[in-house]
Amino acid sequence: MAKDVLVIGAGLGGLATALRLTTHGYRVRILEKHHQAGGRLNQLKAEGFTFDVGPSFFSMSYEFEELFRSAGLALPFELRELDPCYVVYFRKHKQPFRIYKNLDRLQAEFEAFEPDFKAKMERYLARAGQIFHDTEHRIVKRNFNGSIDHLWAMAQVPWKHAPMMFRSMWTELGRHFESEEVKVIFSLVAFFLGATPFDTPAVYSLLNYTELKHDGYWNVSGGMYRIVETLVAELERRGVEFHFNTEVVAVKERSGRVLSVRDRSGRDWGADVFVCNGDAAAFRGQVLGRPGFEEKKLDALHWTLAPFTMYLGVKGRIEGLAHHSYFLGDNFTEYANQIFRTSVAPEKPYYYVNVSSKSNPECAPEGCENLFILCPVPDLRYKPDWSDADRLADTIIADLGERVGYDIAANLLTRTVYTPEHWRDLFNLYKGSGLGLAHDLGQIGGLRPANKDEKNSNLYYVGASTVPGTGLPIVVIGSKLVTERVLNDHSLEYAAV
Ligand SMILES: Cc1cc2nc3c(=O)[nH]c(=O)nc-3n(C[C@H](O)[C@H](O)[C@H](O)COP(=O)(O)OP(=O)(O)OC[C@H]3O[C@@H](n4cnc5c(N)ncnc54)[C@H](O)[C@@H]3O)c2cc1C
Repeated sequence: MAKDVLVIGAGLGGLATALRLTTHGYRVRILEKHHQAGGRLNQLKAEGFTFDVGPSFFSMSYEFEELFRSAGLALPFELRELDPCYVVYFRKHKQPFRIYKNLDRLQAEFEAFEPDFKAKMERYLARAGQIFHDTEHRIVKRNFNGSIDHLWAMAQVPWKHAPMMFRSMWTELGRHFESEEVKVIFSLVAFFLGATPFDTPAVYSLLNYTELKHDGYWNVSGGMYRIVETLVAELERRGVEFHFNTEVVAVKERSGRVLSVRDRSGRDWGADVFVCNGDAAAFRGQVLGRPGFEEKKLDALHWTLAPFTMYLGVKGRIEGLAHHSYFLGDNFTEYANQIFRTSVAPEKPYYYVNVSSKSNPECAPEGCENLFILCPVPDLRYKPDWSDADRLADTIIADLGERVGYDIAANLLTRTVYTPEHWRDLFNLYKGSGLGLAHDLGQIGGLRPANKDEKNSNLYYVGASTVPGTGLPIVVIGSKLVTERVLNDHSLEYAAV
């Protein structure tokens, strides 16, 4: 007899879990607060332009292949490798740096800045690669049953990596490279984890290995939202019901089980098993009312930066602009150290620009470009007031126009801005934090909010703030881990008895 599973949230974590569970014969319904699926991996349309709302590329593309293969399917969208991976502009240099996976080409970019770059990078990446492979299965791709289990798992990681836990990524880069430009560029990945390179442990140099050596960076032909469209189509084919504009606000628990959840309109939804794709820490506090996750305690956790995002439809082609670019200033240390906790918008912001119409012409009207701009900013704990959003948007548009030599402001056909308040309200992101809980060593593995509820034997979590963590491929791995839990605890064979 099939068991009923109710998934709360149609983000990537919820959709991927639904795919895996339907493969195993479970009956799935999905409740989603937003009007369409995808969560942060969403889509926005305006004036003939189509924008990916959040993610624009990913590493570990093989995790998507594994997801669909596990469901008996071929990958239903086309992966496209980024080459160069990205381009970095500093204010003081006229020429940007193109970050290629090919180390000979990469060496040419840094020739004038870092003597013997290739040999140094080979050594740096060899070390980073060892950490990646020594932790992938021991830490990332496994479930944890509490902190003792966590300590045991950590003890299985070869001890030679221990010093990398105690020095920072910035220090590690400094042991290999002298050039400020090289150190800044390859430390940018630290921000994906929720901290600066000055307080991110050097073990996370493994992310440089994933970008430059291992699988590289990828996106999807037709735009990132193809991932969601293909998942939704397959789930509908399998009979999964989607209920949009349906936010879960309360849970009815009895004797260690969830009986039903209640949506904002007062309707109750029952099931045998519940999988929450909303933030695993915030849901425990805000919906379950757990004292361990009340606001004060949530605020004391480490969260990733909040996104300030813009979606611009621009008339004309901006020839000088690549597909993925970072625009940085010249005061990296000072900027990085103040960006997390300031209550004012940056005067000279650092930001990322993605132009998906460069490779997906259907995303913009003929002769136009669609620009997605992401400026990481402090979350709502530190900067709760975004009445100055337009000023920051204008500053970025003017700065970008000047740096690429194109009058963007004069050619704007459409402009949408999301502040951290929008991100909070759209997808229940805690205080607007973009990637969820940070990944410092006290918030990973068995120390992260677990994917199995502490009190209810039929409540589970999937997504950025539970194990293994944030980022698209990591969330896909999380869907595998939570599925293992459900299969183990609520097998259909058991139901049939
Ligand atoms: C601006 C931005 C850029 C990013 N760029 C990248 C990138 O380039 N590459 C990359 O790998 N990652 C990127 N990320 C991170 C990536 O988007 C996330 O790690 C991933 O999408 C998280 O998926 P999820 O399933 O955990 O959660 P979400 O995408 O947050 O989905 C959760 C869903 O649950 C719904 N929900 C929440 N609470 C409730 C409730 N109570 N009732 C009903 N529904 C509820 C939400 O509306 C949402 O749809 C980016 C994130 C942001 C914000």
